[in-house]
Amino acid sequence: MTPIAPHAPTAADVLAAAQRLQGVAHRTPVLHSGMADELLGAQLFFKCENLQRTGSFKFRGAYNALAQLDAAQRQRGVLTFSAGNHAQAIALAARLLDIPALVVMPEDAAAAKMAAARSYGAQVVTYNRFSEDREAISRRIAQERGMALIPPSEHPQVIAGQGTAALELLQEVPRLHYLFVPVGGGGLFAGSLLARQALGSSCETWGVEPEAANDAQQSLRSGQIVQIAEPRTIADGALSTALSPLAFALIGQHAEGITTASDPQLVQALRFFAERMKTVVEPTGALAFAGARHGGIELRGKRVGIIVSGGNVDLARYARFLSD
Ligand SMILES: *Cc1c(COP(=O)(O)O)cnc(C)c1O
Repeated sequence: MTPIAPHAPTAADVLAAAQRLQGVAHRTPVLHSGMADELLGAQLFFKCENLQRTGSFKFRGAYNALAQLDAAQRQRGVLTFSAGNHAQAIALAARLLDIPALVVMPEDAAAAKMAAARSYGAQVVTYNRFSEDREAISRRIAQERGMALIPPSEHPQVIAGQGTAALELLQEVPRLHYLFVPVGGGGLFAGSLLARQALGSSCETWGVEPEAANDAQQSLRSGQIVQIAEPRTIADGALSTALSPLAFALIGQHAEGITTASDPQLVQALRFFAERMKTVVEPTGALAFAGARHGGIELRGKRVGIIVSGGNVDLARYARFLSD
């Protein structure tokens, strides 16, 4: 297993990631909505990473990390233990770079998720969520096969890659006053803070967490990483119980703050995206909009960037959100 370089990612790493992703990742559109502007009394700019390859921004970090592996490591392959968007992102990035990929998933994971990872050519290894430890299994396989373990947040080049979504938004829409970013393990938020730094922007940058999973908000307040119990929220892309240490170092130093959104507010936002903006967003992808709307930050008259982070949601589940 190749040890992960422990160095913190920098603003320059985000700029280099943007170069690496050019022509590989989609430059996703920035949408506007007169109705959304009216609701908040502000000008909103939605960066639509639900339209990114594999349906979320995670492709950016995955590709940026894998593209920097040396030839020997590429031959031995990569693995990860996410069941969600990071797994799909690693699977596609690996296929594009001709690297064998393995994903460790719970045996009761949604069939669609396993199928998605396999359809991109990854090998899926399952484990029992209740009796086995996925990180231990992943480390053992990594050791046995010499594969590089690429975690969803705790990796400098993953964080740098995630920052390119905010970089594109800040480049395309000048003079933003505020930027709202969803927070799970913190990679997207940390990368966004580096993107702001790279462009010398003074845009106030806020993270948004599910109300029931506000470990990052607690961490920012207390100055150290706070670990919470397994949270219950529909935002299944932000279920992490603690920030990644690399992300926390950047968030603690550079972030304006973290606010939260409740599950009913996320559902309301999903419906707004569907009905008014004609775009499919997953619950976690709606965090930034819901946080801007309900998070108690005065935005009247401001120019506000919103990262819409993903759109992968099981259709039957999505239909229930829309019809409830
Ligand atoms: C992973 C993910 C997040 C959270 O990103 P982190 O880097 O873990 O903070 C937000 N939205 C979606 C759609 C995701 O897949």
